[in-house]
Formats: sequence, C-alpha cells, structure tokens
Amino acid sequence: MNFIARDNGFCHHPREMTRTEKLLAELIALPSVNPAFISSAETSARQARQIYGEKNVADFLASVATKSGLEIEFQKVLSGRSNLIAWLRPKNKIKQTILLAPHLDTVGADEKQFVPQRKNGRLHGRGACDTKGSVAAMLVALCELAEAQSRPLETEIIFAGLIDEENAQAGSRALVANKFKADLAIVGEPTRAQIVTAHKGSLWLKLETCGRAAHGATPHLGKNAVHEMARIVDILETDYAAQLRKRKHKLLGSGTVNVGKISGGRQPNIVPDHCEILVDRRTLPGETEAGVRREISALLKTKKLTAIISSDKSVPCLALETDFTLPLVQTFFQSVGQTKPIGVDYFCDAAVLAAGGIPSVVFGPGDIAQAHTADEWISLAELDQAKSILVRFFNSLP
Ligand SMILES: [Zn+2]
Repeated sequence: MNFIARDNGFCHHPREMTRTEKLLAELIALPSVNPAFISSAETSARQARQIYGEKNVADFLASVATKSGLEIEFQKVLSGRSNLIAWLRPKNKIKQTILLAPHLDTVGADEKQFVPQRKNGRLHGRGACDTKGSVAAMLVALCELAEAQSRPLETEIIFAGLIDEENAQAGSRALVANKFKADLAIVGEPTRAQIVTAHKGSLWLKLETCGRAAHGATPHLGKNAVHEMARIVDILETDYAAQLRKRKHKLLGSGTVNVGKISGGRQPNIVPDHCEILVDRRTLPGETEAGVRREISALLKTKKLTAIISSDKSVPCLALETDFTLPLVQTFFQSVGQTKPIGVDYFCDAAVLAAGGIPSVVFGPGDIAQAHTADEWISLAELDQAKSILVRFFNSLP
C-alpha cells in the first residue's frame, strides 16, 4: 500500500492513524472503478483487472470482517462482481435487522488518485468520500462491536458492500430481488454525517422528431426535424422548467429538466428527417415516468409540436421519501443529535432498497461537493465522527 502521510508537511510526530482512517487508506489503494466507465484508451487487460471492478475491495473487506469474527457471504450479482455481506448476529433471538449499505465501486480517476494522501486533516484519493469513507466507518463500527462482545441482544446488524451504484445499481437491485428484508437501511453516501430521508429520482428520456427529407435547395418540399426539435428544446428549457419550479417538495424543492444531448441531420444540403435529444429529468417523490411523459406530450401539443418520447435508461431511478417519524429512524436521529430531516438532489441506492420494502435513509462522512472531482477528499475528523455515531446508535438498540 502506498500511503503518504504529510500532516501539515512539517509535523515530526504526525497524529496516530485511527483504525477507520487506516482502513480507508487501504481501500483507496485498491482501485474499484465501475467497469461501465472502462475507456477504450485503457491499455492491457492486466491493468484493467487491477483498476476495474469491486472484487479486490470485496475480498479485502471479507478478510477484515472475518478477523473480527463477523460471518461473511458473497452474493454473486454480475460476472466477477459480488456484493459482500457481513453479519453481526444478536445474542438472543432476532427481533429487528439494521442494514448498512455503502457501495464499493467508484467513478474513474487518474492514476495518482489511487495513492491515498493525508494532508491538513484530510485524506485524498478516489472514493475517499464516495463511498469508501462510509465503507470504512460502517465496517469498523461493526467490527468494534463484534470484538467488544457488546452486541445488541435482539438486533441483527448486516453490512452489505454493494456493487455498481455508480452505474445501474445492480448490487442493491439484486439484494431486493433476493427478497432481502431489514427494518432500516442506512445507505452510505457523503451527507456530512447527517441523516438524509429524501432524495430526487432521475429519469432519462429520449425525444425524437420525424420530418421529411428534401434537397437543401428546395427546403419547402421537406419538413425539417431539427427545426422542430429546436423549438421543443426551447420549450423544455423555458416553459416546462417554469412549470416544474411551481411544484415544490418540503425537503427537495422542485424537480428539474436538462437537455443534455442533441443529434440530427446529415449534411448541409439535405433537409433533416430525424432529430433526437436526451433529457435528464430529476423527479420528486410520487412522480412517475408515465406521468412525466404524459405532461411533456400535453405541453408540446399545446404548442402544436409532436415528439416520440421513450426511456433512455433500462432501470427506474425513483425518488426517496422515508417517514422520519418511524421509531428506528428517530433513534438514529437521536444518535446523530439531529432534529430535522434533510433532502438531497442526487439519486442513490436508498431509493432502490426503499422500493423493495426496506425503510431507508442516507448517512455517511464526507461532502458530496468533493465526490467525482479530480481531487476527492474527506475530513478525517468527520470520518471518525461518523464511526462514533454508528457505534452510539448500535449501542442504543435493544
Ligand atoms: Zn458517486
């Protein structure tokens, strides 16, 4: 492991590394980029094996969990890619189950981001906050409990290191498909160690306009699909966006629309007969894809425009809204010292688990502002704080 500790650069006695910090540094040094982000420029297959996929991280975490006496199991999801499940069974009969669910994959990164670096109370590297920080805090909290023999009497706590969150959430979807049940899931994402009970959903839609081709010298004989789409783009970005801004959720504000890609036409002297756009529509709880498609069609119709609307994502990414008055959620709020629920814009595994019948909240060290950036980092104080909060929560359970 290449771990470079440079606290302030001049300190002769750098602060002792905590167990959580050491584990996080080890995890950053084991790249686990989601294979969906494999680039054609990638050189050898051997290199790809070292950087892509969650296997190295899952195997390493399994050895860490086993050493502390946790039972483990690999749940195969995709070829060479398994969720890692680790159990802490209660002393007596199981009355309730808590699931800790961070993800093991990361987005892509430069080579240097796979070398963890500590400076000024922060740990830098790919995955530091999204979400290897949560992995480290959650697993260390569970291991400490297992070693101290201070486990709850009736509560089962399960750690599930999930694959593929950054792409299609195959890990959480597999868990739910296998009828996994829990009374509360704590999904690890960088929330600055606050509890998030709501997040927006994400719909990717494709809109297509169909025209009629003609010679560029006689455009009046054709029907220009690009021109029609240009008007649709304008309406989505103005009228439709304004319509969405009027609809507000207490924790999430308004839904949004973004036209992210456009393509159409062939060459200057042909009237284009086809144009398409890709749209990212961030939804509020209760909004469905069918409903969104209906309202866009209706709006276009009032402007005498038509487009074929289809889905550009194979899996649904719904919004999350968990009742924060649930007793277990309230107990967790007390452990954090938080009184009000929080909502965030980004989608995560929590909505998938919630749709599978598991009440889910999001919680983890680090700030989403640093996720996916060229210099991802996490505050070490917050990393240890998140671990302590989890231990406090576990110890408050029956
Ligand atoms: Zn992410």
